Amino acid sequence: GAVLNAGGTAVDAVVATISLLEDDSLFNAGRGAVYTAEGVHELDASIMRGEDRNCGAITGLQGYRHPIAVAREVMDRSEHVFFSGPGAARFAEQQGAEPAEEGWFDTQKAHARYLRALKRDTTREKFGTVGCVALDTEGHLAAGTSTGGMTYKRHGRIGDSPVIGAGTWADDRTCAISATGWGEYFIRTAVAHDIHARMLHG
Ligand code: ASP
Repeated sequence: GAVLNAGGTAVDAVVATISLLEDDSLFNAGRGAVYTAEGVHELDASIMRGEDRNCGAITGLQGYRHPIAVAREVMDRSEHVFFSGPGAARFAEQQGAEPAEEGWFDTQKAHARYLRALKRDTTREKFGTVGCVALDTEGHLAAGTSTGGMTYKRHGRIGDSPVIGAGTWADDRTCAISATGWGEYFIRTAVAHDIHARMLHG
């Protein structure tokens, strides 16, 4: 709200809001990100601007405090829209993104979930992904999503959150969307883009 009231863009508001949530261990994003089956953190984030439908996303990012800020850099400062794993980390480093020690992500809540999943040997809990949509004073929309994915996800698993059209979408002509839920289902039906398309063509 403060960002928008001061005349900031919808993209600025989305990044500011999600960055705050990424620092709060209550949420499954940034600091509070869940553990993979191998006991590490692989972060996903994406952002999209409704004005021109430019977008940026990263998946499997390790070692950076604000995945949403890295996604924004992808949108603003690269000719690509999606980076993964070590390549995403390389890009983050080149942009001077703020790094985070592995210990930063060792939170009690996420670890307790990990131990429960380990016992059952199954991917399950999927709560606490963060998202934000904003409409600025110029009438432009933006949407962003950031997550650690699902507890006990397998190495390299990619959910819907960083997939533009599945977990995130923004188009000034229709809507801005950030989804949460079991990512595989959202990818199979391209949920966010489908909602937009129904509004556009309906
Ligand atoms: N959609 C996220 C994923 O599948 C999880 C969530 O929304 O909590 O990675």
